[in-house]
Amino acid sequence: MRPDYHIHTKRCKHAVGEMHEYVEKAIELKIPEIAFTDHIPLPDNFDLPHRMAMEELEDYLNDIEKMKSKYPEIVIRSGIEADFYDGYENYLYQTFKRYDFDIKIISVHFIKNWPQNNWVFSYYFPDRPIQAIYSDYLQALKRGVNTGLFNIVGHFDLIKDEDTSLLKSNKIEVMDILQCIKDQALAIEINTSGLRKDIDETYPDLNLLTYLEKYGIPVTLGSDAHKPEQVGYKFDYIEKVLLNYPKLKRRNIHEGNIHD
Ligand SMILES: [Zn+2]
Ligand SMILES: [Zn+2]
Repeated sequence: MRPDYHIHTKRCKHAVGEMHEYVEKAIELKIPEIAFTDHIPLPDNFDLPHRMAMEELEDYLNDIEKMKSKYPEIVIRSGIEADFYDGYENYLYQTFKRYDFDIKIISVHFIKNWPQNNWVFSYYFPDRPIQAIYSDYLQALKRGVNTGLFNIVGHFDLIKDEDTSLLKSNKIEVMDILQCIKDQALAIEINTSGLRKDIDETYPDLNLLTYLEKYGIPVTLGSDAHKPEQVGYKFDYIEKVLLNYPKLKRRNIHEGNIHD
């Protein structure tokens, strides 16, 4: 089994279970390595109902350290799922300088000036074509990638709706951003949480793997677990799919290198 580099904790207020339960689930599944990557606190209490408060960050990291010493049989990494949101670049820079995260996942959950509290999940643009809506998302992701602050792209096509893949509607932009991801040496996670939702596909959808192989962009796996039983979710299925992409690289943060 491969490492699971995307796991939440109940500090974000929408995940459940104790940290040790997530670790024990990984051990049970024989996953050699995991990363806790809870949602980063944001300035001005932005989206506070779905994330830890700023003052909790230290405790969060201490809790990860406790897990490391309690469970030497598994490698546990400290990480963070960090929102890219225009205007918060310096905040992220300072936070990453102060705290040493092994894994910094870039996620775009909010787009500045969008309706419905900027949420990617609940936009309403009756008069805009889907291509333009996706473009806002992809351009925000691109600005984030190009900050050089992150090392993994989280749920690459989170914005997709069931009818239109980004690869279909915005292919040129997708290719452009893959080049940026390659240039900035990020990996892209295969996030299996979509397989638990109505969309019923991974983020990114598996059609992107051909291009990741072509661009030489490495992948990681992430369950995006918000419950202990979701650790390693459908990784066995993904492993089988990956057999069809023998040249696709995987990134192991633990070893700090990329191998074919
Ligand atoms: Zn979450
Ligand atoms: Zn996310």
